[in-house]
Amino acid sequence: MSAVDNARQQALRQLPSVERVLQCESVRRALAGSELPRSAVLDGVRGVLAAAREAILAGGAAATAADSLAAAALDRARAAVAPHLVGVINATGVILHTNLGRAPLAPEAVAAMLRAAGYCNLEYDLGRGARGSRHDAVEGVLREVTGAEAALVVNNNAAAVLLGLTALARGREVVVSRGELVEIGGAFRIPEVMAQGGAILREVGSTNKTKPLDYERAIGPDTALLLKVHTSNYRILGFTASVALEELVALGHRQGVAVMEDLGGGCLVDLGEFGIEREPTVQDSVRSGADLVTFSGDKLLGGPQAGILVGRRDAVEACGRHPLMRALRPDKVTLAALEATLALYRDGRRARERIPTLVMLAATGDALRARAERLAADLRGALGEGAGVEVAAGVSEAGGGSLPLQELPTWVVEVRRHGGGTSRLEAALRRHDPPVIARVHEDALVLDPRTVAPDQEPRLVDAVAWAWSRSEPPE
Ligand SMILES: *Cc1c(COP(=O)(O)O)cnc(C)c1O
Repeated sequence: MSAVDNARQQALRQLPSVERVLQCESVRRALAGSELPRSAVLDGVRGVLAAAREAILAGGAAATAADSLAAAALDRARAAVAPHLVGVINATGVILHTNLGRAPLAPEAVAAMLRAAGYCNLEYDLGRGARGSRHDAVEGVLREVTGAEAALVVNNNAAAVLLGLTALARGREVVVSRGELVEIGGAFRIPEVMAQGGAILREVGSTNKTKPLDYERAIGPDTALLLKVHTSNYRILGFTASVALEELVALGHRQGVAVMEDLGGGCLVDLGEFGIEREPTVQDSVRSGADLVTFSGDKLLGGPQAGILVGRRDAVEACGRHPLMRALRPDKVTLAALEATLALYRDGRRARERIPTLVMLAATGDALRARAERLAADLRGALGEGAGVEVAAGVSEAGGGSLPLQELPTWVVEVRRHGGGTSRLEAALRRHDPPVIARVHEDALVLDPRTVAPDQEPRLVDAVAWAWSRSEPPE
């Protein structure tokens, strides 16, 4: 045996047994306090011993003291049982960030979710003391705020579209403009949803122009629906024509054909008031007389993930009766959050003050600039002289496939770490508790105050200081 092999053998012999590490005071305390499950601790101990053995065999150094192995094992065990889903600070400036859970909820919605978490009157009529319907919680308020005759809620808007097409058009034709064969992220494509729903797609018009006559010519004995799809995540510009919903409704109803609209975003307020591009509102669609209008709960509406169907009573009831409904129905916690969010829309001013999505959309340039300046001052104080911290003009986004062409001017804080340290800083921010998600543009870390709640600002400053100290440039 060579001298090197000898040294390795000796180091391996110094490694304590699993049992010996489990006997360490720190491990015994963690187990006695039920801080960690025994299985996770055992896996942690085996893991660190295996890693140490490997390091020694590879000719490296490894700690062999039982106490330091125990500390490392407990770290592993804690990491293994830590929750996967955690709250994050969104400093990207993308309001409906699909990767970060789309709409953050209003405090009223959060409180309602907690109330519903235990037993609640989900399908129980407290007045009659008998079975009720889970849809009662939101149908009334949905009718109130949208003006529709009837309403129904499912898991998401993709499910709402699938249910609408299946219940109203299975085995029959659905007429859609070629300019509206939308794909939404996550492979939701109108032609494919149509096929899933067993409906036959009848495309009309061209990509840029579709006229009333195109629909009219396509209507025949097999036509079940005229479908309008809001091009929520793209725009066709230039030489274009499309048929307005009212016109489509007039045409359909003259010919005895129902009209459905997939509205996507579910906007309930006039965004024109915020000085941004106006989105068609749900109320507009209902007023135009469509039989069925579907939209998301967690896009511009600013509520929980849900799909909402509103419209004429017979069309909504046909959806509610369909067997697919049982597979698509929402849970009590979602319904509670949705009811509380919708209730805020009874008073438009309250909705604008309490629903974070609307607050962020409405934030003015002056207010954002003042917040960016304050954040920059706090960051200079926390990071000291070496840090380059500047305020600059930037652009936020609505996100979530909404308002694709709308630039939302903002003011951002740019933090620069020389020697290529900015990307290490960004990576360290993701490891902070709570993690901070930010963009890197050229050599700057970019923090947009628009999507950071004001009460998160001190934690954001702490997080950047923490990450700064852990992302020193290599020597
Ligand atoms: C977003 C969107 C959908 C899908 O809605 P989810 O709630 O994400 O399922 C469907 N259609 C349109 C037009 C959309 O914008």
